[in-house]
Amino acid sequence: MAFPDFPFEEHLPSFLPHGEVLAYLERYAARSGVLQHIRFQQLVEDVSPAEGPGGGWSVTSRELGAGGRRRTEHFDAVMVCTGHYATPMVPHIPGLDTFAGQVLHSREYRRPEPFAGRAVVLLGAGPSGVDLALELAPVARSVTLSRRRRSTPVPGLPAAVAQAPEARAVRPGSVLFADGTAAAAETLLLCTGYRYSFPFLRRGAVGLRAAEGLVAPLYRHMLPPRHPTLAFVGLCSHVCPFPFFHCQVLFFLAALAGACVLPPAGRMLREAAEELRRHRAGAGRRRRFHRLGPAQWGYCGALARLGGFAPLPPVLRGIYEEARRSRERDAAAYRRRRYRVLDAERWEVLSDGDGDGDGDGDRDGDGGRDGDKDGDRNGDGDRDGDGNGDRDGNGDRDGDGDKDGDGDGDGDKDGDRDRDGNGDGDEDKDRDGDGDRDGDGDKDKDGDGDGDRDRDAATAAAATAAE
Ligand SMILES: Cc1cc2nc3c(=O)[nH]c(=O)nc-3n(C[C@H](O)[C@H](O)[C@H](O)COP(=O)(O)OP(=O)(O)OC[C@H]3O[C@@H](n4cnc5c(N)ncnc54)[C@H](O)[C@@H]3O)c2cc1C
Repeated sequence: MAFPDFPFEEHLPSFLPHGEVLAYLERYAARSGVLQHIRFQQLVEDVSPAEGPGGGWSVTSRELGAGGRRRTEHFDAVMVCTGHYATPMVPHIPGLDTFAGQVLHSREYRRPEPFAGRAVVLLGAGPSGVDLALELAPVARSVTLSRRRRSTPVPGLPAAVAQAPEARAVRPGSVLFADGTAAAAETLLLCTGYRYSFPFLRRGAVGLRAAEGLVAPLYRHMLPPRHPTLAFVGLCSHVCPFPFFHCQVLFFLAALAGACVLPPAGRMLREAAEELRRHRAGAGRRRRFHRLGPAQWGYCGALARLGGFAPLPPVLRGIYEEARRSRERDAAAYRRRRYRVLDAERWEVLSDGDGDGDGDGDRDGDGGRDGDKDGDRNGDGDRDGDGNGDRDGNGDRDGDGDKDGDGDGDGDKDGDRDRDGNGDGDEDKDRDGDGDRDGDGDKDKDGDGDGDRDRDAATAAAATAAE
């Protein structure tokens, strides 16, 4: 979905090709006049609190290319907008290092042609795995999609895509699955997601701890309480990207301008710790702390109230959640749907892409016109609207088999029993006893083979469903 102050062009489909997204962002940047202030091709190497009474930040950057100039400059505030689709998460699967064929991460995938005639096993049935299975099915000799979180096959995939449960072991020429079956493999494609990485930030200096999937403590998932002139924009996943970033940026600007007075550092620390404690008490894993899902709407609403700016129109939530449900019904057809915004609350489906020609595509009989005002059918568990991400157990109202309320459909069965509950986000008392099976050094048992990116890209893809 578009930034609220800059709609997509009328003629565009609801699910945009990446070239159109780029063109849109270029138009947005040009209109705002921001381009003249950007220095491109600069790698930020270090961000540290500036020394001296003036505060601010010391930022060291290097111009890319041979002999690129390095400079250190002072800034009053810093926004970290480096995304979280750059550093692959590689799961630990016994025997992976013995595989005789090609092992790639989805990050390295560009086109289907190099996989023609090959036996491909995709590990991870999130959006990357599903999208790549759809692309590879016409050209590969065989395509097997291994899922971990889902207990049931992904609906809507062609018969040429075999589906298998979690991979338990890898052999030199095959993959063994949890149900005892095996698939021959010449290529393993790890669609296993990404991890946070901020190599330019001395986290100790800003009082942050970062483990896979968790950066803490952060006030409202954004601000290090002791250094609130630094903001992480877009750290959260399972959000509708552009509208979400819009709210975070306006909130941060309001805080910098003094229009929104932030609580003292001690209170921000307590609030951040309390939010993490609530998340953990609701059986939420630490790595999912920034995974907002349905809690994003309350979160954005709270930022708007605090920052004194207009909240997101409810129609965004309605379309976003309908697109998500549509994807759950049919992983191949959902992108063909076209949505039209009628006003701030209402929307309609112009064509439903499911081939039945009824033009509604939804199954709740309201024709998609109610803008989802019907009392929260979507299982967000955050019904108090305080944006605190309270996801603790509404009993799976969204019908995805997921009772932890994060909407990812996995039922949170991974048995992470970290009970430290101390709200500090550190790893020291993790008792899940998994011996760091994912090999990332953080002892989170996730090692999941389907990756943190699952819903990132799901929400991302859904997020283009637009005006
Ligand atoms: C396969 C895939 C499909 C997706 N599809 C959709 C979709 O259909 N719709 C949708 O809305 N979203 C989609 N998303 C998600 C969308 O790409 C992200 O939400 C969005 O890119 C996040 O924007 P960002 O600016 O926060 O981060 P990014 O787009 O990741 O940008 C981060 C930028 O920071 C730069 N950077 C990083 N480190 C440094 C440094 N040290 N110094 C200087 N620069 C640095 C990077 O080079 C990069 O340019 C998709 C994501 C993936 C991976």
